[in-house]
Amino acid sequence: MLVATHNKGKLEEIADLLQPFGVKVVGAAEMNLPEPVEDGTTFVENARIKAHAAAKATGLPALSDDSGIEIEALDNAPGVYTADWAETDNGRDFVMAMTRAHDALVKSGAPQPWTARFCCTLVLAWPDGHDEVFPGVMPGQVVWPMRGDQGHGYDPIFQPDGYDVTFGEMDRWEKNKISHRADAFAKFVAGCFG
Ligand code: IMP
Repeated sequence: MLVATHNKGKLEEIADLLQPFGVKVVGAAEMNLPEPVEDGTTFVENARIKAHAAAKATGLPALSDDSGIEIEALDNAPGVYTADWAETDNGRDFVMAMTRAHDALVKSGAPQPWTARFCCTLVLAWPDGHDEVFPGVMPGQVVWPMRGDQGHGYDPIFQPDGYDVTFGEMDRWEKNKISHRADAFAKFVAGCFG
């Protein structure tokens, strides 16, 4: 199956999740596909842009993933702009992005807990133009200061509901069992391999 991502981490995670079903994955970079502009305003729009571009270019079914964090007191920002908040001229800086989120929360005067959720939308696009959408979510709260050096992105400031540790303090396998991506994948697997 073609996975419409140029992100090596995402590709490896998706390969792990599909390996039990005998599905071999190939990434967009290996197929020399260009990265489409993600100018949608929702996770599903951006996931559709990536999956359809790859399916159209190759004639293969293509799976894409779009994800991010929604913080309730910030009107669900950064949302689809989660990665953009970390952009600098020298690459992505997630400490800067997490600090920006915290500063905005303090400025808003919103009382704690700072309710938030990680979202992940998977889209499977077919060469004939139809697609299937599998949304996943992990509710929790933003905490400060940052805690933990596991994981990536905003993991050190996200504490999932039912836990007293952040994603950044959890081991990778534990996080992958409960995360927003695991939730979306469970629906994808039930829909396609069930
Ligand atoms: P995109 O889906 O590649 O457009 O970017 C999603 C962004 O959301 C990533 O760059 C991360 O910053 C953030 N993100 C998504 N999932 C996670 C997660 O599990 N932990 C931490 N950050 C995440």
